[in-house]
Amino acid sequence: MKNHTDEIVGILRKEMLCHGAVSLADYMKICLTHHKHGYYIRNNPIGIKGDFTTSPEISQMFGELIGLWIAQIWIDHRKPKKFSLVELGPGNGTLMADILRATKMVEGLHSALDIILIEISPFLQKVQKKILKNFPVTWKTEIKNLPTQMTIIVANEFFDALPINQYRRKSGQWMEVMVTLKDLKKLASKEFCFQLMKTDKRILADLKIEEGCTVEISTVMRDVIHYLSSHIQENSGAALIIDYGKEGNVGDTLQAVYKHMYSNPLTSPGQKDLTSFVDFKAIKTYAEKTGAIVPNLTNQGDFLRSLGIEERAEILSRGLNSSALKLHKSGLDRLINKDAMGNLFKVLGIRNENSPPLIGLET
Ligand code: SAH
Repeated sequence: MKNHTDEIVGILRKEMLCHGAVSLADYMKICLTHHKHGYYIRNNPIGIKGDFTTSPEISQMFGELIGLWIAQIWIDHRKPKKFSLVELGPGNGTLMADILRATKMVEGLHSALDIILIEISPFLQKVQKKILKNFPVTWKTEIKNLPTQMTIIVANEFFDALPINQYRRKSGQWMEVMVTLKDLKKLASKEFCFQLMKTDKRILADLKIEEGCTVEISTVMRDVIHYLSSHIQENSGAALIIDYGKEGNVGDTLQAVYKHMYSNPLTSPGQKDLTSFVDFKAIKTYAEKTGAIVPNLTNQGDFLRSLGIEERAEILSRGLNSSALKLHKSGLDRLINKDAMGNLFKVLGIRNENSPPLIGLET
C-alpha cells in the first residue's frame, strides 16, 4: 500500500506533467489540506510529539486572557442575549477550552454563546469534540453562512497556514514562483524544484518593488478577511487575529517545519507544516475596505501584558512546587519575552465601526 507522501507526490506529479508546473498556492493546498492525504487532514501536528507548539499549548494563561478579552467585548456590546463565538483553525481545542473555563463565572455569557469552530481536518475535529464534549459546538469546514447575530472571531496561528502565491521581479518583468519536477522528461522523477514562470496578473501591475525581490499574496486570506469583516460590519462584533508576520508583502517567507525543526518545503510533501509570515498590512487593507475599524498592530507581549498576564502568573504561581513553578515561569517567558514569541507574534483586532474600542488594542 502506498503511504500518504507517495500519494501526494503522485497527485502533484500528475498536475505537473499535465500543466508543466503548479503554483505555490496549489502546492501548499494539496500538501496541507488534500481531502485524503493532506498534512492537517490526517495528522495531529501540534504539541511536543508533533511538529510545532502553539501559545495555548504553552500556558493556560493565553486562553484565559483571551477569554477575558471576549467577555469584555460582550459586555461592551451590552451583553446580547445571543452571540456567535467563532474560532478559526482550533487545533487541539485547547484555546477554546481555556476560554470557556475562564468565562464560566461571567454571568449570562455561557447561555448567550453559540460556539462555531471552523476546522478543515476531520482528525482535529475529533480531538476538539473530545475536549469540548460538555459544550454545544457547531463545526464548519469553511467560514461562511455564520448566523446573523453579534459575532466574536478568534484565530491563533490560522492565517499562516493559508496558501500563498509568490511573485518575483526579474529582468524588469513579473515572474510567478512555481513548483515543478526537477526532471520533467524522466518518467520516474519525483524530486521537486522551484521554477519561475512569466505572468501578467493584474494585481501586480501597481506594485513597485526592486529587481530580484519577492512578494507574497494570499487570495484565500483575502476572501476570509473580506467575509469576516463584512459579517462584523453587518452584525456587530469583533475579530482577534494572532500570528507571526510582518506589515507588507515583500520577502520570501515560506517555511517548512518538521518535528520542531526547519526543513526543506519541497521534500516529503504532506509530512511537514508549510507556513508563511502573515501580511498584516494586507489584512488591514482588506478589512478596511468593508468599513470595519482596524486599530494599529500590537505585539503579543504588549497585548498579554495589558490584559494582566503578569498579575495572573503571580496568582497561579502560589502553591506550585519548584518544578511546576519553573515550567510556569518559562511558559510566561515564552509568551511575552521579546526574544521569544512576545515580539515575533502580532495581534490585530478588527471591529464594527460603531463598536466600542477594543480592550488591549486601543487606548
Ligand atoms: N489555533 C490552534 C492551531 C493552529 S494550527 C492553536 O493555536 O494551537 C492550524 C489550524 O488550522 C489547524 O487546526 C488546521 O487543521 C486548521 N486549518 C488549516 N488550514 C485550514 C483551512 N483552510 N480551513 C480550516 N481550517 C484550517
